[in-house]
Amino acid sequence: MSNEIIHESVITCPECGVQTKETMPDDSCQYFYQCPNCEALLKPKEKDCCVFCSYGSVPCPPIQAARQ
Ligand SMILES: [Zn+2]
Repeated sequence: MSNEIIHESVITCPECGVQTKETMPDDSCQYFYQCPNCEALLKPKEKDCCVFCSYGSVPCPPIQAARQ
């Protein structure tokens, strides 16, 4: 199996809909994310560990690793 961990995730702001590409840290989850457009402070939804899992196009690296 080729288990490539993706480190780039496009976060979609639920407030204004702007999409921003962000690089995810390998070993830590980002809990807060501030939208660069409307400055809304995003927090993960219930059950999600970080903003990338809730609003990103790709879940965070630990979740990707756990799925493999
Ligand atoms: Zn926004």
